[in-house]
Amino acid sequence: MSNKNLYLTKPQLKAELEKCLGCRNMPCTGACPVSCSPQEFIAAARKGDFSAAVKIINRNNPLGQTCGLICPDKFCMHACTRCLLDYAINIPAVQAALMEYYRSPDEKLEVPEANGRRIAIIGAGPAGMAAAWILLKQGFTLDVFEAGDKIGGALNLIPESRLPHAAVEKDWNYIYLPERLTLHLNTRIENCDALLQQGFDGVIAAGGEPFCTALNIEGEEHSLSFMEYLRHSEKYQTTGNVAVIGGGLVAVDCALVAKAGGAEHVEMFVRRQLSDMKITRAEYLELLEQRIDVSTMTSPEKIVSENGRLSLFTRKNRFENGILKPLPDSSIKRPDFDLIIRAIGSYADPAEDKPRILYAGDVKTGASTAVEAMASGINAARKLAAEILGA
Ligand code: SF4
Ligand code: SF4
Repeated sequence: MSNKNLYLTKPQLKAELEKCLGCRNMPCTGACPVSCSPQEFIAAARKGDFSAAVKIINRNNPLGQTCGLICPDKFCMHACTRCLLDYAINIPAVQAALMEYYRSPDEKLEVPEANGRRIAIIGAGPAGMAAAWILLKQGFTLDVFEAGDKIGGALNLIPESRLPHAAVEKDWNYIYLPERLTLHLNTRIENCDALLQQGFDGVIAAGGEPFCTALNIEGEEHSLSFMEYLRHSEKYQTTGNVAVIGGGLVAVDCALVAKAGGAEHVEMFVRRQLSDMKITRAEYLELLEQRIDVSTMTSPEKIVSENGRLSLFTRKNRFENGILKPLPDSSIKRPDFDLIIRAIGSYADPAEDKPRILYAGDVKTGASTAVEAMASGINAARKLAAEILGA
């Protein structure tokens, strides 16, 4: 996987900045789940005040660099008025570049005096981090419990070529105030009530993982969930053939990781048409560059394991009056796979909020984008702070 285009060059950044129309009604801001304000940070950067641009990004988004690298084009870019003339400003790329080039490592979140209340946050993924950011700004002292051995949560499922962990660490360093926040890695918390009994004033539970959607086909047990694969891809490294079932961003990540790990042939099986795949142009080009095959209008029917090899039986689909239907007599056997990964989606089975225990992130909303998980963490943190402080 190449990461040569991870950040805009400074000339590219300047060109993007100059395209901005400075729309007074700020549609880009309105479309951002955390109300990060492209109109304002672009205006500051255009004037050469890059430090102000970084501050504006951080004003509403503590994970400005992370979001810049991975936010999809369906939010701010989709709303960008410039689309009406030619192309949207590449706002995520602008945001990522501003944070990469112009943030100061010494820049720290400013917080008020401690208010004497302690909150436990379970999970150091985007929802947990965003909740921490809100609560620190309100004077709370925090303990963040993370089951994994590093911060990031679901962000760690994203390949390093698209989201280097160093970028997440830079964002984390902005909010990490050791005198007010204690991070407990490798610490799994099963019982939120016990935390209240230990003296915490409230709990944000943002550590749950969504469930991988099942294929509901015979032989499904021979396939691997995308979560297991992306979390432990080194365990499943192969130089053989890999099938990825699914056509979204996570499926693309699985395919790219398999290819980067040495798989000779990687093929995605997508139920609908190429144009229905929910991926950006950049990801599409990456698939082409990495020579990953995409079999569209194809659904899995069963998986058979024979002598250590996997066969995937598929059938073709077609549209009839706009409805996707199986194409009769189109079943074929695709033999000789080493690995079949299911990546058709995920879902949440959310627990009910209780007094002083609020759930946030993927466990609340199902697998979502980082910026949506952050919005969920921000909402939960605001609600919990109001509950505790009686606002
Ligand atoms: S909508 Fe697009 S052109 Fe308008 S201010 Fe936002 S980024 Fe600039
Ligand atoms: S956080 Fe993401 S969605 Fe919001 S303005 Fe920045 S790039 Fe766009």
